[in-house]
Amino acid sequence: MLAYDLHCHSRYSDGTLSPAELVARAAERDVKVLALTDHDDVAGLEEAAQAAAQYGIEFINGVEISVTWRKHTVHIVGLHIDPQNPALVEGLRSIRSGRRHRAELMAESLARSGIGGVLEGALRYASNPEMIGRTHFARYMVEAGHCKDVRSVFNRYLVKGKPGYVPHDWANLQDAILWIRGSGGIAVLAHPGRYTAGRKPMGRTTLLELLQEFVDFGGQGIEVVSGSHTPPQYAEFARYAKEFGLLCSCGSDFHGPEESYRDLGRLPDFPLECTPVWTSWEAAPA
Ligand code: AMP
Ligand code: MN
Ligand code: MN
Ligand code: MN
Repeated sequence: MLAYDLHCHSRYSDGTLSPAELVARAAERDVKVLALTDHDDVAGLEEAAQAAAQYGIEFINGVEISVTWRKHTVHIVGLHIDPQNPALVEGLRSIRSGRRHRAELMAESLARSGIGGVLEGALRYASNPEMIGRTHFARYMVEAGHCKDVRSVFNRYLVKGKPGYVPHDWANLQDAILWIRGSGGIAVLAHPGRYTAGRKPMGRTTLLELLQEFVDFGGQGIEVVSGSHTPPQYAEFARYAKEFGLLCSCGSDFHGPEESYRDLGRLPDFPLECTPVWTSWEAAPA
């Protein structure tokens, strides 16, 4: 098991726990090094860092930036960012500013399919209203009895081709990498196994093109062991890491006790050929 968990969410984006609760849960599960990576926001980092200090956990300032690359939404994790860096702060603010309007359009689309009152309902789940997103809609739609769980909502609604889906322009790939690196952080391609083209997985050729652009713009790492990857995908992305000279990262992508692929600190070790991303900030062994 890895003692590092470098990808998870608090209530400041679409997780269900406060940063302090999240850190307490990580400590119970023997996580030694934790990064909080809320979507498009750094507001939870201070609370998490304070809690981590109490538990003796090494805390890493992180973020997960929403990016539009060609027609695809991809996510770039920044590790060891400076949450006060002006260009990063302004970039994240600009991404968040589109979320409210998108949510209104999502609610209108659902209303046309006979599902009303969703914006008000979803907002009740968004502790940080600027960060309203699909997960908050999904939680409300479960509460209202439209689906049995969050995953079923994403199968029937909110994804391309289904009611409630609204295309959106997030940050561009180069900007996201520049904001992260400009603040002293390391840019990591999040969960490459999750990207889709329409309703199908992203093809291999497209993924290789994404990796090449990511590297050309200064991307440094790739999530190999992710809560949302299968063991064959660990091997596949370890190979790509080697091919593209990328550091390997790992994270549960934990969102809450009821909804996550994997709990905090429950990640298996990397494939042998991986160079862990933390070698870039830890002193090399003597
Ligand atoms: P948004 O940034 O508002 O588009 O929301 C994206 C979030 O929705 C992701 O970070 C996940 O937490 C969640 N999500 C996306 N697809 C799924 C899915 N198939 N099942 C469960 N959650 C999903
Ligand atoms: Mn999420
Ligand atoms: Mn993600
Ligand atoms: Mn995530």
